[in-house]
Amino acid sequence: MKYQSGRHFLQIPGPTNVPDRVLRAIDRQTIDHRGPEFQQLGLDVQKGLKRIFKTEGTVIIYPSSGTGAWEAALVNTLNAGDSVLMYETGHFATLWMTLAKRLGLNPEFIPGNWRTGVDVSVLEERLIADRSHALKAVCVVHNETSSAITSHIALIRKTIDRCKHPALLMVDTVSGLGSIDYRHDEWGVDVSVSGSQKGLMLPPGLSFNAVSQKALDASKKATLPRSYFSWEEMLGPNKNGYFPYTPATNLLYGLREAIHLLEEEGMDNVFQRHIRHGEATRAAVNAWGLEMPCKNETEFSPALTAVVMPEGHSEIAFRKLILERFNMSLGSGLGKFTDKVFRIGHLGDFNDLTLLGALSGVEMGLTLANVPHHKGGVDAAMQSLERVYQKK
Ligand SMILES: *Cc1c(COP(=O)(O)O)cnc(C)c1O
Repeated sequence: MKYQSGRHFLQIPGPTNVPDRVLRAIDRQTIDHRGPEFQQLGLDVQKGLKRIFKTEGTVIIYPSSGTGAWEAALVNTLNAGDSVLMYETGHFATLWMTLAKRLGLNPEFIPGNWRTGVDVSVLEERLIADRSHALKAVCVVHNETSSAITSHIALIRKTIDRCKHPALLMVDTVSGLGSIDYRHDEWGVDVSVSGSQKGLMLPPGLSFNAVSQKALDASKKATLPRSYFSWEEMLGPNKNGYFPYTPATNLLYGLREAIHLLEEEGMDNVFQRHIRHGEATRAAVNAWGLEMPCKNETEFSPALTAVVMPEGHSEIAFRKLILERFNMSLGSGLGKFTDKVFRIGHLGDFNDLTLLGALSGVEMGLTLANVPHHKGGVDAAMQSLERVYQKK
């Protein structure tokens, strides 16, 4: 491929743009992962991640994609044939359910239409009906990246507690952590699952489990086979900053730096920035007159926006045109949204002008692809962004 001048716009909802400071941090010699220099790195990233997950408990780091951490959450806590309650918020919830099935679990999948987050009244009904406590875990996706819909985790916890149900609460926050407020301890999550390449602004290759005491206790009795993903194997060496096998050392350099960046900006400022960019993007989509899958005002994702293509128009052709003309990658439609919905990622290393650049590319693309729409989306986004500063 020929050189294309200017920066590529990577506006998919993960992997996200990697900040230069993180790239520089990764660009170093790999060191002995059993030596003293590594020990400090190992301890630093464990401590830093606890602050990011907002937990006093344990955070385990795997050299794997987020999918590995999904598997780890299940195999460490459950037994073959266990029933688990999962909720169809979209494609990622479906993938996690399929993975659970392959592991020999018995997932009960509450059907959803990919247009709302977890409906806690449906959850409550199911938990109340489970008098024998056959359900061992409730597994939900915090930020469903296929439909751009968030679920209210604190509310889900309250619902489980109100039902006095002992199931573990497991939450996929692969695309939420580091861009949307997340509180592992306060929300009473037992296992949080995340990954490196979304809100944490790292390349792909690391995944995480934040683990409550209750989940650790469950892991002592759980009998699903596990080896590479075994928490127990990790916890021993982790105490001193080490790993049972060769860790992804250079990504850990990057992780340490990414945590610095998030904390320099201030986590609350990071969350506010994502909320603002979500609002501005929706202002643009509304001005274009296009539809978004999300039906509940309180469930719009601050991290990305999904847009429904008008009938008879292909999102695949639309994204291809935008890539060729404007050197920008947009997120594809996943699962049943294939060729129907495209996604604008606005998470990670991102600012007002990057957002306006991305939205300009989308608006020009709509014109060039002859997609019926109104002009003025970028203007609406600018006004939305300006309003925040005018209020001050
Ligand atoms: C990206 C993503 C995953 C999967 O992560 P991989 O790193 O691709 O394995 C899981 N859940 C959600 C919500 C995601 O956005």
